[in-house]
Amino acid sequence: MTNLDTQQSNRPLSTHWADITADKIIRERGERNASQPYVCASGITPSGTVHIGNFREIISVELVVRALKDRGMPVRFIYSWDDYDVFRKVPANMPRQEELKGYLRQPITLVPDVLGNDASYAAHNEKTLEKALPIVGINPEYLYQAENYRASKYAEGIKTALDNKETIRKQLDAHRTTPLPQDWWPVSVFCMSCNKDTTKVLDRKDTYGVHYKCESCGNEETVDLRSTPAVKLPWRIDWPMRWAEEGVDFEPAGKDHHSEGGSFDTAKLTSQEVFGHTPPVTFQYDFVRIKGGSGKLSSSSGEVVSLSDVLRYYQPELVRYLFTGTRPNSEFAISFDLDVLKNYEDYDKIERNYFNKPENLKKLKKWEKDARIYELSQVNGIPETMPYQIQIRHLTTLLQIHSGKIDAVIDYLGDVPSCDEDRFRSRAACAWNWVQEFAPEDFRFALRSPSEGLMEIKPELAKAVGELGKLAAEKLGTMPEKEFSNLMYDIIHEHNLESGDFFTAVYTALIGKEKGPRLINFLHILGKDVVSSLLEPYGK
Ligand SMILES: [Zn+2]
Repeated sequence: MTNLDTQQSNRPLSTHWADITADKIIRERGERNASQPYVCASGITPSGTVHIGNFREIISVELVVRALKDRGMPVRFIYSWDDYDVFRKVPANMPRQEELKGYLRQPITLVPDVLGNDASYAAHNEKTLEKALPIVGINPEYLYQAENYRASKYAEGIKTALDNKETIRKQLDAHRTTPLPQDWWPVSVFCMSCNKDTTKVLDRKDTYGVHYKCESCGNEETVDLRSTPAVKLPWRIDWPMRWAEEGVDFEPAGKDHHSEGGSFDTAKLTSQEVFGHTPPVTFQYDFVRIKGGSGKLSSSSGEVVSLSDVLRYYQPELVRYLFTGTRPNSEFAISFDLDVLKNYEDYDKIERNYFNKPENLKKLKKWEKDARIYELSQVNGIPETMPYQIQIRHLTTLLQIHSGKIDAVIDYLGDVPSCDEDRFRSRAACAWNWVQEFAPEDFRFALRSPSEGLMEIKPELAKAVGELGKLAAEKLGTMPEKEFSNLMYDIIHEHNLESGDFFTAVYTALIGKEKGPRLINFLHILGKDVVSSLLEPYGK
């Protein structure tokens, strides 16, 4: 494995969006050294399962981070868990709804874990994603904002916001239909007595004091920003404060934040004018739709599709490929229907292409586009030679013949190199999950066993099926597929049969269904022993 420096060798300049963004960051934010790396940021409120649409932001940042690293640039990749945000709504896919309702208006870091045994609801959602990300080669530095806020790490930032209350008010009001009320303050307070944010700031006391009253429990007190865990900034002010605090150079955002007058617009102004930080380079990423999955996976039905869900059907390189090969600002669908097979076939094609680099410069430019997508789709470095490939359709047939036993498929193939066995197993596990859960009915089959007895087949067909079994015992595998096919058609003609009826009878004898994988190839995969043991008895 090598980490490829894409700028070396005779490669044309990449036009991949991650490379273009990396170049823009370098151009706009200036050259850096190891002591002052570029800071690329992503983050989310862990108020529910982190879904695959949220993952789009994380991988978008990671791809830009890779592009910067490929240019030899120092980079810090931070991922913020905004777990000091308030718990606003109980997600529909969560158990123990009533219990969770009791925690509304409290910070999510204080809500109990209803899905497992983690320290909190927020921690559960965080850990679930933190476990899945390394599988696709993503390893950011996690920042836990509840921890930072509660340790008063942002006391100076909050003070700056209070000092610039009127400037921030103007920035926010510019995009509001109704102006903020006269008694508005640029902070929110979690009551120290009942934990809820149902508080009203009454006044500021000296430089660091905030005087509030809780509307839920009546608690009234003054807290000191340098020691209290109670005060936080609302999102539109929190975001630019942390850009400045963390020195963020790049952060993309979804459509909701990037709309006209949305939080990115106001955060830019606040960052520049209040916190003295040039706003980060950004781009907008679009939604991810879910296609197929026969109702089991559907974001619209309230069920949430997570990265782990997608990894059940797509091996890690394929997951990366789906996002790497699509520009962030265009919507796309992750499919769980037959398109799964097409996605694997497309990926395999760009892999073969990658290891078949053309000499001709004109062809090289075309090659480069897919080559870069292939490189960025790899989890742990780029293979030095072409990895072992198995066609996904062939694999699904083999798995079904061997009842999903991957070891048996590896034994049958006999040529999977040990260096590629992990990848192979990962693909096989995904293919088998897909066959069992999402493959269309006519795609699925289970091989019959001679001990199950014979299927009911019309006598004139049964006789011909038996003859095919006898032919298989003698000749299957000893001659090219085409020649064996000719001998099979001789049997069909001798018995004066319609070939469609005959095929149906053969599939019925083999798998108990009227259709199956392409017959001649299927017989060859099964081999003469299996075919003859299942077909010959019909001739007796
Ligand atoms: Zn209270």
